[in-house]
Amino acid sequence: MATNEDHFKNVISHSKEYGFIFQSSEIYDGLSAVYDYAQNGVELKKNIRDYWWKSMVQMHENIVGLDAAIFMHPTTWKASGHVDAFNDPLIDNKDSKKRYRADVLIEEHMAKIEAKIDKEVEKAAKRFGETFDEKMFRQTNPRVLEHIHKIEEIETRFRKALEENNLGEVRQIIVDCEIVCPVSGSRNWTEVRQFNLMFSTAMGSVSEDSSVIYLRPETAQGIFVNFLNVQKSGRMKIPFGIAQTGKAFRNEIVARQFIFRMREFEQMEMQFFVRPGTEMEWYAYWKEARLKWHKALGTPDKKYRFHDHIKLAHYANAACDIEFEFPFGFKELEGIHSRTDFDLKQHEQFSGKKLQYFDPELNQSYVPYVVETSIGLDRMFLALLSNAYTEEKLPGTINATTGKEEDNSRVVLNLPPFLAPIKVAVFPLMAKDGLPEKAKEIFDLLRFDHMCVMEEKDNIGKRYRRQDAIGTPFCITVDPQSLEDNTVTIRYRDTMLQERVAVAQLKAIVEEKVSMRKVLEKL
Ligand code: ATP
Repeated sequence: MATNEDHFKNVISHSKEYGFIFQSSEIYDGLSAVYDYAQNGVELKKNIRDYWWKSMVQMHENIVGLDAAIFMHPTTWKASGHVDAFNDPLIDNKDSKKRYRADVLIEEHMAKIEAKIDKEVEKAAKRFGETFDEKMFRQTNPRVLEHIHKIEEIETRFRKALEENNLGEVRQIIVDCEIVCPVSGSRNWTEVRQFNLMFSTAMGSVSEDSSVIYLRPETAQGIFVNFLNVQKSGRMKIPFGIAQTGKAFRNEIVARQFIFRMREFEQMEMQFFVRPGTEMEWYAYWKEARLKWHKALGTPDKKYRFHDHIKLAHYANAACDIEFEFPFGFKELEGIHSRTDFDLKQHEQFSGKKLQYFDPELNQSYVPYVVETSIGLDRMFLALLSNAYTEEKLPGTINATTGKEEDNSRVVLNLPPFLAPIKVAVFPLMAKDGLPEKAKEIFDLLRFDHMCVMEEKDNIGKRYRRQDAIGTPFCITVDPQSLEDNTVTIRYRDTMLQERVAVAQLKAIVEEKVSMRKVLEKL
């Protein structure tokens, strides 16, 4: 069986081989943590974005969209706190010269202790069999209690150090926990330093006139500064939301793990403006609603979990992540944050303009509170792709000459059909005798509603495999009989079953399987 590491490597090479993702500027040896979406990747990415957009904007009468510019007035980032506080603590290992995020080193250390607890529980479950009481075991077993105590101790120290911005103490925790560099294996660490993650550039052609501006590190601020414009022009009543998808930029210290952590990435964010005092109800509502959105895709439930934040950002009064089990473990996929009235109040203060809502029911004006849902489109792409990538062993075929069974396998992307980059591939059995023309007729019938391709090259078996590897739910083969009775063979990706159907049925068969409607109805 392939290990998780192998699985991840295979997903990465598959992405390149089948036109999903290329390294940016590859001919110049690439640019670190920047990627390009290729012909199939761009379709999958667009479909995920559409699913998010429709579920947010089209399915909620009180949520509208926005597309704010990437460049914003520089004061925006003073007000939001990003200029002063959008930092990550970094630390270098003097032997390997590798750079790490100090907070990540500590969190990973705690996760390792957590894994030890799980191992103890697993061992005991085996030993005691059916009589095993897991809850009791976790509460009383001395070794488990010792591990729990250790985690709590580190967590408390770590939280305090972050709150006090005490970088010396953060380093001391790394030293005391005897954390080693995964590359050199040594504990030869530098001091911990803060590093601002924003990219800056200059606007204006003459250097004296130019001013420093930033590439936005999150899309949310474009929503906050437009809050009143949207509310007034759309006559929106609280509670209401503004949704936006778009690029964000962060100069990440450690950029590994493919498209999980990039320096240029895309976010899908929604800010929901509510009456002060109701934010916890809405926070609970959006936590559930967002988890439902993920689960509607049919991914196993156990791949998702909530993780409450240890340290709340300066603007939040509650925050959690939806974590997904990537091939390299459970990691943040989406954040849900109760951001209070922090951002709007800051913008009021820095701009000198009022950002208040008049609530006709209360007959009073106030600065609304905000609950935000924020998901990385690229991370969602990686979650879907790594979950969909499957190597299947199939019954072997018998070689006619040797009489021996030959290995038979395929790689298939089990993507939810409505998200698949290509919905239908049409194949003329042979590139002659009027079959390509007939295939083109079918292609033209379906292309108005769905992404379709036509392929003539290679034998049918190879063409099927290629479409499986891209995740195409339907392959349609046109053969000489098609010319006589207007029927074709349709082959289904997941079961590999083939059926003879009338051309007149095709639209309905495809539509039934690839429509987004059924998924939206589950939300
Ligand atoms: P992390 O802790 O992984 O750095 P974060 O908590 O800083 O993430 P948020 O600021 O909450 O992330 O951003 C919201 C979402 O944007 C994240 O849940 C993630 O899906 C996505 N995201 C953030 N940073 C990146 C990145 N560098 N590359 C790709 N996606 C990102």
